[in-house]
Amino acid sequence: METVLVVGAGQSGFGVATSLRDKGFDGRVVLIGDEPGLPYQRPPLSKGYLAGTAGDAQLRLRPEDFFAEKGIELIPGRVASVDRDGAKVVLEDGSAHEYDHLVLATGAANRVLPVPGSTLDGVFTLRTKDDADVLRAALENAENVVVVGGGFIGLEFAAHAGRPVTIVEAQDRLMARVATPEVSAYFAALHEGAGHTILLGKGVAALHGDGRVAEVELSDGGRLPADLVLVGVGVEPRTRLAEEAGLAVANGVVVDEHLRTSDPKISAVGDCANFPCVQAGTATRLESVQNAVDQGRAAAAAIAGEPAPYDSLPWFWTDQLGAKLQIAGILTGAEKVVVTGDREGGKFSVLSFRDGVLAGVESVNRPPDHIAARRLFAADPAPRFETLEANGFDLKATFA
Ligand code: FAD
Repeated sequence: METVLVVGAGQSGFGVATSLRDKGFDGRVVLIGDEPGLPYQRPPLSKGYLAGTAGDAQLRLRPEDFFAEKGIELIPGRVASVDRDGAKVVLEDGSAHEYDHLVLATGAANRVLPVPGSTLDGVFTLRTKDDADVLRAALENAENVVVVGGGFIGLEFAAHAGRPVTIVEAQDRLMARVATPEVSAYFAALHEGAGHTILLGKGVAALHGDGRVAEVELSDGGRLPADLVLVGVGVEPRTRLAEEAGLAVANGVVVDEHLRTSDPKISAVGDCANFPCVQAGTATRLESVQNAVDQGRAAAAAIAGEPAPYDSLPWFWTDQLGAKLQIAGILTGAEKVVVTGDREGGKFSVLSFRDGVLAGVESVNRPPDHIAARRLFAADPAPRFETLEANGFDLKATFA
């Protein structure tokens, strides 16, 4: 019987396994994961789970009996190496598992702050449920909380920490990598309104303390008292297995339009995969639930004998301080923006254009705009500025 082996039981690995069954694949489906417990989703970790309003049940992707029903074998353990000649993987405990097709769904690991003191007690990152559990407990007794990095993770943490925090960001605005200045400014005001202090354009030079963090030293020499530091400075794709197996790796495991690596018997999906992104017009690595789910589905279809070029529209969301930001498309390289809706009232959308074509739409508390943007992109992957302008930049009217 044919065996598909998936390394990594996170969002995308789970997606591959379930999609294979949805496609009618009747061979063995084996999901190997190095985290304890059943596969779970990460978004609540920096939102409701952190705030204590969501529990284990909200994290779990499916209950235990689902896996038995679907014939998905869960194997706990960490894969230490891939033996391509022998078509098998070897776990750290020495056990070997053969495959006909292998999927790497190993995700990403948090970047460590490259400064002295980054391993002191009281310095945390947030990626796993274990991280969130430790962080939640530490928050109860923390007085001075500093967040390093004003990206999604740092800001969601700040929003759900339940107390004022100081956010240190090296760029000159929040969420600079993925949001337009208009949206950055809105969220900066929101966080300041909630009592958070935002320090922009400042790096961190060192963390000080005697075993436990007590102070954050900034790049300009300033010092902040801190007994809890959350570092959210991005992730690195987990590519060691692929590299050591001799697969092509460049900012992620390099895959083609069918999510296949340089070895046709091995695919890669989710945060660890660098794929040819139609919307970006270049090889891209994305870190989102949408990307993990859709790539899991596409890789499964290819394995099940129904390959179709991967071209799903990237989209993303974040929840902070009662505001929901949803992004459809890829904003990179956009040179022109149009703001629609009620910015002052906190319900607006920002349309970004690249070379006269709509590249992405950020919607703040305007879910109908987000849905309309996704429908518009589905109907026309390259809506022109003039077309939208003629419709008063009304997304719904444009695709109707
Ligand atoms: P992961 O979910 O990280 O799964 C990879 C799994 O592989 C992990 O369990 C890892 O331990 C395991 N693994 C790695 N190497 C091995 C090995 N050698 N052997 C066995 N197992 C291995 N996205 C959104 O779109 N919206 C959000 O609001 C949002 N919020 C987020 C909040 C947090 C706190 C985090 C951390 C992420 C959030 N994301 C969000 C991003 C989203 O969760 C990720 O993009 C998604 O989980 C990626 O799925 P993945 O399967 O590629 O990786």
